[in-house]
Amino acid sequence: MSEARRYQQLRAHFSYLKLDSAAEALPRILDAARAENLSLTAALERLLEIEVTATEERRLAGRLRFACLPDPWTLSDFDFAAQPGVDEKLIRDLATMRFLDDASNVLLVGPPGVGKTMLATALARGAAEAGNRVYFTTAADLAARCHKAAVEGRWATCMRFFAGPKLLVIDELGYLPLPGDGASALFQVINQRYLKSSTILTTNVGIADWATAFGDATVAAAMLDRLLHRATVVGIDGPSYRLRSHQSTSDKLRKAVNAHVS
Ligand code: ADP
Ligand code: MG
Repeated sequence: MSEARRYQQLRAHFSYLKLDSAAEALPRILDAARAENLSLTAALERLLEIEVTATEERRLAGRLRFACLPDPWTLSDFDFAAQPGVDEKLIRDLATMRFLDDASNVLLVGPPGVGKTMLATALARGAAEAGNRVYFTTAADLAARCHKAAVEGRWATCMRFFAGPKLLVIDELGYLPLPGDGASALFQVINQRYLKSSTILTTNVGIADWATAFGDATVAAAMLDRLLHRATVVGIDGPSYRLRSHQSTSDKLRKAVNAHVS
């Protein structure tokens, strides 16, 4: 077989195996192999590394598309100095993703604007980057989807969907009253994930007030029992980041007025 024909054959093999990035890099790597006198092993390793990197990037993009994260936040976007209410060491420990290994949960509890959604999103992104299937939803959306599924006779499929991800984020529990059977749907989702895979839950309702917030004290107690059995509770009792700019504007205004008066 001539060298040119062998090269065409090699390109055809790559194309058949859908190793498109390696195929594209092939001329470059062959030139480098000649120029740098690379061993066959070194050249092959370089070529396949290109394919592996491209595959990893494609899979991560797929996981991130599936995850439906509300923003592209990472932990480096979070200003720990601006939020003294957050235990940075604890968050950095969660960011190692060890909590996924023993299926423990994370509860982010605090008033609006303190960064609960941002931290949940950043942790979810980290989990996806580490190779895990992640899904982000809000408590209200989860309840609505479960309700719709029940009406349309797709309850089991819906439960399987929420059982699937290695990490499920349920944002904003307690902001809106859950519709009719919402609390029970939420309980079933939590219960089937219990001890199998991790859930991050954000809420503005202090744990002591869950019973009243969910109407049904028994369901609330059963839900907390599963959630807290293996969990890290992150209480964020700090200033609202959203109100920061308003705060400094009104501070400035007040100072200006005071200066004018005195
Ligand atoms: P919560 O979910 O607790 O109501 P969010 O996570 O939605 O709060 O945060 C509100 C807004 O403030 C978002 O735009 C978020 O990016 C920003 N934010 C909150 N805390 C911080 C922080 N510590 N560093 C940087 N941005 C922050
Ligand atoms: Mg939020």
